[in-house]
Formats: sequence, structure tokens, C-alpha cells
Amino acid sequence: MADSSKVLSLVYDDSGSIIYLNVDGAVQENFPQKFVKLENPNRIYFDINDSILIGPKQQIVFDKSNIKEVRLAQFSTNPNVVRAVITYDENFDTSKIKLVNLNGNVLVQAGANKLSNEYFNKIYDEAPEPHTYNGIVANSQVIKKVALPEVKQEGSAAALEEINKAFSASTLNNSDGKTYDSIVSVDISSDLKLRTKYFINGYYIKNGGLLVSGLGQMTTAKMFTLDYPNRVVIDLPNTYVDKKIRNKELLMCPDASCKDRAKIGQFEFNKARIVVTTETPEKYIPVYSSDAQSMLLINADKLNHTTLSAVSSNIQQAYVKKINSKTAELILQFTAPVVHSILRDDKSLNMYLFNVKSYNEPELIKTFNNTAYKNMTLSLLPQIGVKSTLKVSKDDVIQISQSIDGKAIKILYTKSATQQTQPVEKTDAPKKPPIKNKVVIDPGHGGSDYGAIREGINEKDITLDMSQRVASILKSKGYKVALTRTDDIYLGLQERCDYTEAENPEIFVSIHVNSAVATEPSGLETHYYHENSIKLAEIIQKHLVKEIDSKDRGILKSKFYVINHTDVPAVLVETGFLSNADERAELVTDKRKQATAKAIAEGIMEYLKKK
Ligand code: ZN
Repeated sequence: MADSSKVLSLVYDDSGSIIYLNVDGAVQENFPQKFVKLENPNRIYFDINDSILIGPKQQIVFDKSNIKEVRLAQFSTNPNVVRAVITYDENFDTSKIKLVNLNGNVLVQAGANKLSNEYFNKIYDEAPEPHTYNGIVANSQVIKKVALPEVKQEGSAAALEEINKAFSASTLNNSDGKTYDSIVSVDISSDLKLRTKYFINGYYIKNGGLLVSGLGQMTTAKMFTLDYPNRVVIDLPNTYVDKKIRNKELLMCPDASCKDRAKIGQFEFNKARIVVTTETPEKYIPVYSSDAQSMLLINADKLNHTTLSAVSSNIQQAYVKKINSKTAELILQFTAPVVHSILRDDKSLNMYLFNVKSYNEPELIKTFNNTAYKNMTLSLLPQIGVKSTLKVSKDDVIQISQSIDGKAIKILYTKSATQQTQPVEKTDAPKKPPIKNKVVIDPGHGGSDYGAIREGINEKDITLDMSQRVASILKSKGYKVALTRTDDIYLGLQERCDYTEAENPEIFVSIHVNSAVATEPSGLETHYYHENSIKLAEIIQKHLVKEIDSKDRGILKSKFYVINHTDVPAVLVETGFLSNADERAELVTDKRKQATAKAIAEGIMEYLKKK
């Protein structure tokens, strides 16, 4: 049926509070008017009539949300009906669910749900997780509810709306057309096949800056500069840039007054790169919207603070929580959504809180005292807002999240392993020596995190199988082995590190299967990060290429979370490419899995004997 609308994809935000169905050619009468509620399990469904689901059935499992699962399937053909089913737990208030018609696409809004303010979206990440791009996984982070005085909801919602206007591209249309110079954008309903966290559908020049606008949840990596020509660069992991707008260059000024130019490209599969070519890269700062959906990259001299937000905010509370000996979390709670900038150099983390006008300094000093944030300072800058500075080291890892309502910022600060050798806090017990001949094996991914997926074959299943084979070989030779998971369960990266620290092994080996967009790449890699892991990586790689007839891609220094956050020698083995048809056919065989396990086990044993 030519006239049926096409349901192209299912998109979520990390909070589980917004689900978006991309529908092409939807007609008004087919738009779902209501949903049907069912029990056992608690679920709702709604139908999109006269529509066809393009591609396979889709399913998203939420880890820690009131919404448990969203499924999308062709319910019937002739008549053609696509059905969406949302499963939730008893705490979920379905009266808050709204079906919103967004240009013919279906937006399911559950954001009024009370819990939503406890959800944080990661907006800045110096250690993005490897391989998250293939999974349709939503890992919502829930933090303990913090006790706060009630803030009037109406005022706050209005404030958020006003702040978001500063980042909105659509408001430009109301002007005389001279407030911006260039626009590169696409209609989001055109071709959205998204398996990523953020989809860039447009970029604009607004008020002398580059406004990046998209759908989903934006995360940026650390900004850096390049020479010849001078450029400032920000990568966005887990991001897809619409093909139609890639690499289109925009001039930052309408006249010839500046020569700065900006463009956005798909740097890698699922990684976008923003590049501004400029004589003054050091002047550029990223300004984040309070809904984590857009960012303005602008020369600080051109920043007009009044255009950012007229709504002032105050720091209401601060909380510091120690996660483990290396990591501590700081939550700053504001009275209104905050517009901010994150600037990181080798010595410090600076945050500009542009619309923040006041804070209780003695209270904050008391909160920071005796914590990892003890050297954090705040200062009030006239015309700008509050600047916070935290002294850090080059290899420390900073991750910053923002609450859905824009009124809280969470900083996760992890000290680097090298710094850890100096006693930071006297209360820490002295570290026990590792248990001799003990190994932690970490099967990559698991549960709702599938890792790479090709032709119905999941990375998580291969890694578990191989890891169990490694464990059994090592045990038969008298070694002590602990596996981070023995079942198909989800395990966070920090959980894997905490487990390893508690097990106190001599070495740590994480097992993965590689993938690429191109189908040609194949072969074996061993990754390390810290210097103390090079020898182990070399020996394991040597055994891999000896046992397996595949390309030797060598050892690589990579900042993968699990090997970066482990003190003992730690490597991550990529045992072959699932995206290569020939290698995929091999990887599922007992022969290849056993050969890989044998190589890894022999590498481990040789290393431990040589030590
Ligand atoms: Zn992996």
C-alpha cells in the first residue's frame, strides 16, 4: 500500500522520560489519539493505523527507569497497524503520559513523572564507554533523592522555557532573518535511523556562535585545539550527523569582520566532530543549554550573557558523596535551570554558571571540606555569573551530568591511578598486595548491553563463552580466577572496576569482539592504557596471533574505562571483527572460541610466570 505511513525508528532519551517514534508520511487521522492500559504486566499500548514498520521489530530495555521496556512491532498487516507497547512498574503514573504530535511523528512524554528530576544525562565525558554505539541500550542513572525545599513548579517551568529559548533555532524564524547568517538543517522526519544517543539534524550561526541542535541526549568529549590551520575541536561520542548536512561550512559572521568558519562531520561511526577554524581557538567556549539538547560554541568575547538567560538562579545546596577511594561525586542544586560552560585543561576544571547570581560560600566550603572537592573555589564575576574551579591532574577523569529539569549538575571526579600512589586521605587503609596467581576475567557487555550486533549474533554472548573457556583453562592449571559476570546480566563499567578492586587479582583481562561500519576490517588487537600493562598486552597479543589465523593489528594504547580505572596490569582484548562476514562465521565456532581462550590463557600464564 503506497499511501501507508512508515514508522522508521524508535528513539529514547536516557531518562526514559521521552520516547520518540519517527514516522514518515503520517496522516492526521492515523495519529494515535489515546492509549490502552493493561495489567500483568503493567503496560500501555497505542496503535498507529495504516502504517508499516520499516526494519526489524524494536525493543528498548531501560535499566533503572519506571518505564521498563518499549517495544515496537507490526501488529497486523491488512489492515497495516504498528503497535507500540510500553511496560512499566507500579510506581509509574500513567496519567502523566502524553502522546504529542510532533510534525506527524509521535512523541511520548512521560516527563511529568515525579522521578524524572532524579535522572541525570551525561553531558561531558572524558572516558566514553567503548562500543556503546551498537546497543539499543538505555542506562538511566538514578541518584538518591535529595531533600530540597519545594520550588514552585510553574515558575520553574517558565524559567526553563525562557532559558531554552536562548538555544532554540525556531525562534529565529520570528525575527527579520538577520539575527543569523547561515543554517544547515534537515527535517527530522526525513531519514532518522538512529541507534545512537544523539542525532544532529541542524547547525546554525546564532549571535556569532555555532548552535548545534539535535534530538536525543547530547554528550561532548574534552575540547582540544589543532594547528595549521588553527582549529578548535569538540567530539560528540555516540552521535550521528544527518548525511545531508555533514561537512557544510558556515561563516561565523555575516560580514567580513571575522574569518572563523564552522562545520560538523561524522568523524567516526557514531562520533561527530565539530570543527571551528579560527585564529583564536583559545577564545572558544562551549555553552550548554539546560535541557542538554543543544550547545553554543562561541568566542567568549562575543558572548552576550543577556541573550543566554534572563532568569537568574542560585546555588541552593551542594552534596559530596564518596564513591570509592578514587572517585567522588559532587551535586550542585540550583533554584532555576542553569546555563553553563565546561572548560578543562591539564591543571583544572573550570565551570562558568552564567545565570547564577549567588551562593552561600561558608556552607559550600563546609561541604567541600575533607572531600575530593576540598580545593574547589567559587567566585562571582560581574556580568558573567559564577566561576568554579577545581584543581585536577591531566590524567584525572571528569564526567559531568545534568538533571532533566536543568536544576542540578553532577560532577564525577576520578583521580588517575598514578596519583593514587600518594596517600590522599589518611583514613584509607593501606592497600593489600595482590593475591598471587589470581586473575579477573571480564566478559564484555551483558544483559541489556549487547555490545556489537551483526546478523543476530551478539558480542555479549561470544565474550561470555570465551571468558568461561579462559577461566576453565586457567583453573585446570591451578590459577585462581574470578569472572566479573558468569551470566547474561548487565554490569556497569565502574561496577566491573569495583569488583576487580575487591577481588584483588594480579592482573585484569577484559574480553571483547570488535566491529566497524566497513565490512572489510578483521583481526586481533590488545589494548592497554597504563604503562604497567604493556608487557601483558604484548604477551597476550603474541599468543593470539600464534593461535589464530587472522590479521595482527598489534597492541594499542586506549583509554577504555575498565583498563584505565584498574590499578593492576589490565588489558582489553578485541578477539576479532563481528562486522567482517568471514571472521563472524569463525567467531561463533567452538574452534575459534577455544583457540582464542587458549591464546589468552597461555598469555596470562606466561606473564605471571615471568613476573
Ligand atoms: Zn565490546
